[in-house]
Amino acid sequence: MKKYADIGLIGLAVMGENLVLNMESKGFTVAVYNRTVEKVDKFMSGRGAGKNFIGAHSIEELVTSLERPRKVMMLVKAGQPVDDFIEQIIPHLEPGDIIIDGGNSHFPDTIRRTKYVESKGFLYIGTGVSGGEIGALRGPSIMPGGSAAAWPAVKNIFQSISAKVEDGSPCCDWVGSDGAGHFVKMVHNGIEYGDMQIICEAYQIMKDLLGMTTDEMHEVFKKWNSEELDSYLIEITADIMAYKDKDGVPMLDKILDAAGQKGTGKWTGTVALDMGVPLTLIAESVFARMLSSQKDMRVEASKVLSGPKPEFSGDKAQMLDDLKMALYGAKLVSYAQGYDLLMAAAKEYKWDLHYGDIALMWRGGCIIRSAFLGDIKKAFDKNRNLPHLLLDSFFAQKTEAAQSGWRRLCAAALTNGIPVPALASALCYFDGFRSERLPANLLQAQRDYFGAHTYERVDKPRGEFFHTNWTGEG
Ligand code: NAP
Repeated sequence: MKKYADIGLIGLAVMGENLVLNMESKGFTVAVYNRTVEKVDKFMSGRGAGKNFIGAHSIEELVTSLERPRKVMMLVKAGQPVDDFIEQIIPHLEPGDIIIDGGNSHFPDTIRRTKYVESKGFLYIGTGVSGGEIGALRGPSIMPGGSAAAWPAVKNIFQSISAKVEDGSPCCDWVGSDGAGHFVKMVHNGIEYGDMQIICEAYQIMKDLLGMTTDEMHEVFKKWNSEELDSYLIEITADIMAYKDKDGVPMLDKILDAAGQKGTGKWTGTVALDMGVPLTLIAESVFARMLSSQKDMRVEASKVLSGPKPEFSGDKAQMLDDLKMALYGAKLVSYAQGYDLLMAAAKEYKWDLHYGDIALMWRGGCIIRSAFLGDIKKAFDKNRNLPHLLLDSFFAQKTEAAQSGWRRLCAAALTNGIPVPALASALCYFDGFRSERLPANLLQAQRDYFGAHTYERVDKPRGEFFHTNWTGEG
C-alpha cells in the first residue's frame, strides 16, 4: 500500500462509504475520517478491510496522510457541518491544497465558501454527486465547480470513478467557477422532481381513468422503457409496479400518498422565481408534493367537495398512446425550462456553462439518466448558442408530433377530475411560448389603471412608456 493516500474523505455515511469503495476499486488509496470515529474503525474492519484505505482518527491525521497537493473531500450533512469542517481542515493545509464538498450544498453557500477558502490561499471545489448509494459505488454523475486551478489535480480521480456513457465518455467534467457545479446539481434535482411527478400523473390516469392493475401498468412502463421514454425513472417505475408484498398485494397500494422532500426542488423553483425564469413544470411538481402532504385536510375535503366520477369508454390503446405523448411532450418542456434556468444563471453569475457537456454528465449515473439526454447533447453540438431548446429543430418536431395526443390526454384528465398539474402546465407553457401575442396588454392596462405603472405601445419603439387617464378624473 502507498505511504500517502491519493485523496482523503470525511463522512463515512451512505454516500461517503460507497464513494471511497468506488475510488479504491479504481486503484486509488483513500484516507477516511468520520466525526463519530468509531465508524472509521467499523469501516476499516468491515467493508474496507484488506483494501487500500488509511483510517484516520482526527482531521490532522487525515490531512497529514495525504499526497500533495492534498485533496480533502467532505460528504457530510449539508449546511453548518460543511462550514465547521472547513474551519477544522484549514489549519492543516499548505498553499495549493484542495477542499472538496461533495454534498448537496446550496450554490450560494458554495460561492461564499470558494471565496473564503481561496482568500486563505487554498483551492475549493463544490461538486454535485448524483446517483444515490448505488451510483456512488458503481459510478455516479459528478458535477464539479469552484477553483478552476484545482481541476487538473482531481480530474483523473473523478473521471475514473464516474459513470460512463456507451462510447466510454465520463459523466463528469468541469462545470465552471465557484457555485456552478452545485447549481447544475440543483437543476438536475429539480428536473428529477418534474420527471417523477409526470410519471405519477400517468399512474393516476392508468389507475383511476383506465382502471388498470399494477401488473398491466408494469407491462406498459416496461414497453415505454424500450422506446423514446427510455430512462432510469421509467425503468424503476416498471419494477415498482411488479413488486408484491408478502401477502401478494402490490406494495404500491400499501404506501401512504404523502410525499416527502429534502428541499432541492424548492431551491430550484425559488431560484427560478428570483431570476424571472418560467420554470412551471418543476414548480408544479414541488407544489404537488406539498398538496400530497396535506393528507388529513384532503381526507376531510374528499367528504365535502365533489367532482366528476372518472369514466372511460374510448379506445384504451389510443389513450395509452396519448399518455406516452403527454409524458414525452412534458419532458421536452421540462428540460427546455431547466436549460432556460441554466442559461439565465450563466449570465447572472458569469459561468461559461457547456450545455451539451452538462447533458452528457446527466446521461449516465444519475437519477434522471435517459436516452433523451443524448438528443439534448446533439442540439447543443449543432448550435452552441441555441437560445432555447424548443427552438432546436429536433425538439420543435417532437413537440409538434406529441401535442395532439398530449392535448387529448389533458382534456380527458380535466374532464374526469383527475389532477395533472405538471402535464397540463407544461402544455400551457408550450402554448404561451409559441404565442406571438399574449393577453399581457390587458394586464399592463390594468396596472396602468390602478397604479399608473405605464405601458409600452405596439405602434411605438420599445422603451417608450405611456400613461392613460382611464377614468378621466383628476
Ligand atoms: P448524511 O446523512 O447527509 O450525513 C451524514 C454524515 O454527516 C456523517 O458522516 C455524519 O457524521 C456527518 N454529520 C452530520 N451532522 C454533522 C455535524 N453537525 N457535524 C459534523 N458532521 C456531521 O449522509 P449521506 O446521505 O451519505 O449524504 C452525504 C451528502 O451527500 C449530503 O450532503 C447529502 O445531501 C448528499 N447526497 C446524498 C445522497 C443520498 O442518496 N443519500 C445523494 C446525493 C447527495 P456522524 O457519523 O458523526 O453523525
